[in-house]
Amino acid sequence: MTPEKMASEKTAVEKQGLTTDSRARKPRSEGTPDNPLAAELTRQLGSKKVLHHLSERLNYRYDAIQFGVTPLCVVLPESTADVVAAVKVARAAGIPIVGRGAASGLSGGVTPLQESLVISFTRMTRLEVFPERREAVAQPGVVTLKVTEAARPHGLFYPPDPASFRTSTIGGNLGENAGGPMCFKYGVTGDYVKALEFVDEGGDVHRVTREAFDLAGLLIGSEGTLGLMTEATLRLIPPPKFTRTLMAHFAEVGQAAEAVSAAIAAGAVPAKLEFMDRACTNAIEDYLHLGLPREAEAVVLVDTDGNDLNTVDAELELVAQACQGAGGVVKLAADPAEADALWQARRSISPALGRIRPQRMNEDIVVPRSALPQVVREIRALGDASGLHLVQFGHIGDGNLHPNIMFDPRIEDEGAVHDLAHKIALVAIRHGGVLSGEHGIGTMKRDFMTDAVDPVTLQALWNVKKALDPAGSLNPGKILPEQPGGPHARP
Ligand SMILES: Cc1cc2nc3c(=O)[nH]c(=O)nc-3n(C[C@H](O)[C@H](O)[C@H](O)COP(=O)(O)OP(=O)(O)OC[C@H]3O[C@@H](n4cnc5c(N)ncnc54)[C@H](O)[C@@H]3O)c2cc1C
Repeated sequence: MTPEKMASEKTAVEKQGLTTDSRARKPRSEGTPDNPLAAELTRQLGSKKVLHHLSERLNYRYDAIQFGVTPLCVVLPESTADVVAAVKVARAAGIPIVGRGAASGLSGGVTPLQESLVISFTRMTRLEVFPERREAVAQPGVVTLKVTEAARPHGLFYPPDPASFRTSTIGGNLGENAGGPMCFKYGVTGDYVKALEFVDEGGDVHRVTREAFDLAGLLIGSEGTLGLMTEATLRLIPPPKFTRTLMAHFAEVGQAAEAVSAAIAAGAVPAKLEFMDRACTNAIEDYLHLGLPREAEAVVLVDTDGNDLNTVDAELELVAQACQGAGGVVKLAADPAEADALWQARRSISPALGRIRPQRMNEDIVVPRSALPQVVREIRALGDASGLHLVQFGHIGDGNLHPNIMFDPRIEDEGAVHDLAHKIALVAIRHGGVLSGEHGIGTMKRDFMTDAVDPVTLQALWNVKKALDPAGSLNPGKILPEQPGGPHARP
């Protein structure tokens, strides 16, 4: 937590007249709510849906990487009607509202920047599959994996597969327009949304499809800043019958990027296409001892899939040739068990990196595929020059890279971490790329928006925000950089 945030944390506690000692003595979930907002919400929704004790609220100030300000109150709605009631109470009190799923976000999306009402959707878990329509209707608290599991018995499949799919929720996936290893061939969350229900900042409920102004499209990826999504109709597809897997390793990072570009240029459309650099594979090897090539500067993991085995094999062969052509050493998985063992490396990145340093600044740049070799080399050089722990991996088929700066605020200077992150963002922009492919802007990349987006377009984004959230009460301070003198200026 930055000193600035710690100060504001202290203010929040002091305002409630609580000292550390009195907080410790106060029993959990007992007593009357500490503030009028919590009292009114408890009156309207009942005490089982409202968390007001500090020891409970403290758990709702963070996402997977950042801390924010402890919320004034947390509501656990069980229906759209509960969300409407909570929004109306917060609006009447002039309190900002932060929507929250599983808080696995990596850009500060759910961290309140001021005393807020957090609406946590984890109890809204209704999920129905309509096989004849190839659709699932999900409330926002449904865990992503549950959609896949519910679709399977009907011979259907839900492709968006963020690596966090065992914990992330549909609401959070919609909020960030989450992608995953399969996004190159199958697309991201937004590609599977047919309709949405959302509650606006005034508490009105809307049902929107992808027609007309595509309001649903506007809400998807808006990080809780334009409306609170309370239900989604999701498209399901039949799963592919066959999958083949290979791993290739390279003596130089740029070679891996060259191989990917060459494979795609040759016509391959892999189902999954993931990249890890040497720092990343070594962190995994230290953690799990899977037998990954420690000396390789880069590793690429590829799946091809489809309903015709010959075509799937031929496509894998195309990728293998491109990897070898770029100087790579290729290993084909002999069977599904071996394929799973190879993918275990990718699935283990997060815990493995946590062993290097406890905190990370997680970038999510997307660059044109043709620029990938140069971009990964430039970022590696920046990392080496900085002396910080820089690890690169990502959904390289989409040009989506996750340079992660691992740090410990007790050891590394957070200013230097921010500086390196900024330099990486500028590399992406210089090569015609963007700041975020799937993790969102949140607070983490908000300060880089003025580098990435021209002033006229930024003003257009502000106009959209003001049109849908005139009072600026939905997740204030996220995505958009401060507008001098404007009503949405960040605290
Ligand atoms: C180990 C790990 C691996 C990851 N891998 C991937 C990956 O491969 N691909 C990827 O895309 N992401 C990945 N992520 C990031 C994260 O899991 C995704 O962004 C995910 O979509 C967040 O879901 P969540 O339920 O945790 O949302 P939260 O973090 O709770 O919220 C995310 C955003 O959505 C908003 N929001 C939540 N619910 C609603 C709602 N009902 N209405 C409106 N807004 C809402 C929040 O305000 C916030 O801005 C990873 C994270 C971790 C920790």
